[in-house]
Amino acid sequence: MGGSINLGRVLGIPISINYSWILAFLLFTYLLGSQFGETYPRWSSLQQWGIAGITTVLFFLSVLAHELSHSVVAVRMGIPVRGITLFIFGGVSQLAQEARRPLTEFLVAVVGPLSSVVLALVFFVLHKLAPATSDSLVAVTFALFSINISLAAFNMLPGFPLDGGRVLRSAVWGVTGSYWRGTQVAARAGQGVGGLMVAGGVAWLFLGPDNGFQGAWMALVGWFLVSAATSTYRQERAREQFKSHRVSDVMRTSWQALPGEMLLSSPQVAQALSGLEDFLAVLVDGRVQGIVTRRGMARIPQADWGATPLSQVMLSLSDLPRIDAEEPVFNALERLETEKLDRLAILQGDLLLGILSRADLQRWLERGRGNQP
Ligand SMILES: [Zn+2]
Repeated sequence: MGGSINLGRVLGIPISINYSWILAFLLFTYLLGSQFGETYPRWSSLQQWGIAGITTVLFFLSVLAHELSHSVVAVRMGIPVRGITLFIFGGVSQLAQEARRPLTEFLVAVVGPLSSVVLALVFFVLHKLAPATSDSLVAVTFALFSINISLAAFNMLPGFPLDGGRVLRSAVWGVTGSYWRGTQVAARAGQGVGGLMVAGGVAWLFLGPDNGFQGAWMALVGWFLVSAATSTYRQERAREQFKSHRVSDVMRTSWQALPGEMLLSSPQVAQALSGLEDFLAVLVDGRVQGIVTRRGMARIPQADWGATPLSQVMLSLSDLPRIDAEEPVFNALERLETEKLDRLAILQGDLLLGILSRADLQRWLERGRGNQP
């Protein structure tokens, strides 16, 4: 999602802002400022734009609170959270894995809209308490009440990737017992909700009153939902394939093997690690006993390559993270992702049977093997 600015951690969760959010910030400040200008014609332009800016910052904090609630519940349910990113259409909590039970998914999803409702209530009470003489306070609290209520309502639309879509998925999953079935229904619903928003937004743009800006925005958000739902659908279908195939169907079983006494500077080493190859096998006493990776070589200063044999930098087979050839590919993918591994080794005793990296999985999917029903 392009570049992001890190804002540090809140409750231990890294927070970042995508550059696209800056556009959203300017846009919302502009929209709110114009609205305040109409409602309070007596405001100076400093007050008008200042209050709009403050409201937008509080809006940003409201979205952050919404996302934090997802992340905190996820962490409590045992799902690691990589971080929260705010971008032009809102925020995303990046969970390291999907929920393993429908109830977990339901709780992680529903707490977001709930916290937006609570925030809306808080701003509503503040709005009622604000002295009538303070226009600014009345305006800010009312705007934030409306924004948070809209956030809650929008997020509860029953289509993936919205929270409502996750709730729908957890329900179908809970009833049918099939995560994949739940995902299919929720992703299709997400395409439907997004499609309706695109259609509604375009109609508003051409037929609606005032400047049609909201229509264009709605169509854009709808388009974003359609594409997110579609990519989730594809991703989950791939995962489904990963569940029905075994590691032995996907692992690499051939590689370049070179003797351990060969020096890193040797042209055969450079040749073995060229192109897509990012490791080579090392033969010691005529048997593969370890591998040398491109990354491992990069750690040795190039000036020393002429005096360093492969055996000195190899990762020995017993130190490589392993997986069983009979396990579902899905488990391999999950370990590569959560443990941030480059590759897994498949061994039988001390014999190297195969190697599986993320790139191998990607190539397998692209070759279309994963597309069999
Ligand atoms: Zn949410």
